[in-house]
Amino acid sequence: MNVATILKTKGRAVTTARPETSMKEIAEKLAVKKIGAIVIVGDGGRVAGIISERDLVRAIAERGPGALTASVGEVMTRNVVTCNEGSTLDELMETMTNGRFRHVPVVMDGNLVGLISIGDVVKYHLADMALEVNAMRSYLTTG
Ligand code: AMP
Repeated sequence: MNVATILKTKGRAVTTARPETSMKEIAEKLAVKKIGAIVIVGDGGRVAGIISERDLVRAIAERGPGALTASVGEVMTRNVVTCNEGSTLDELMETMTNGRFRHVPVVMDGNLVGLISIGDVVKYHLADMALEVNAMRSYLTTG
C-alpha cells in the first residue's frame, strides 16, 4: 500500500495556516478541528513548517501565557520531513518511528497534496494485515 492509495479514500484536504498566525488561533484550530498538527504554508502554498500540539505545550511551558500571542512562525518546526504519493506504508512507519513525529505532509512537485497521520498509518496497516490473514485462510482452506 502506498500514499496515493491512502489519499484516494482519506482525501487530500489539509489544514494549513500562515506563519504570521498567532499561537492562540493555532490552538483554537487544533481544538475545533480535533487534529494534532497544522501545516504552515508560505507564499505559493509551499510548506514552510509544521506545528503540532506538542510544540504548543512546549511553548507554553517555556514562555508561559505569552506563548499564545507569539506567531506560529516563531514556534513551528521548520525542517519538515515530507513524503510523496509513491511512498509506501512501511517507509512512512520507519520515517515516523525514526523522526519521533506523527504527521507527514505529502508533497508533489513542491505542492502540498495531503497529510498522513499516525492514525492513518495504523488504520491502513491493520487493513493490509486483515487482507493478508484472509488470503492465508483461503489458501489453507482451499488447499
Ligand atoms: P507530532 O508527533 O507530530 O505531534 O510532532 C512531534 C514534534 O515533531 C513536533 O515538534 C513537531 O513540530 C515535529 N514534527 C511533526 N511532524 C513533523 C515532520 N513531518 N517533520 C519534521 N518534524 C515534524
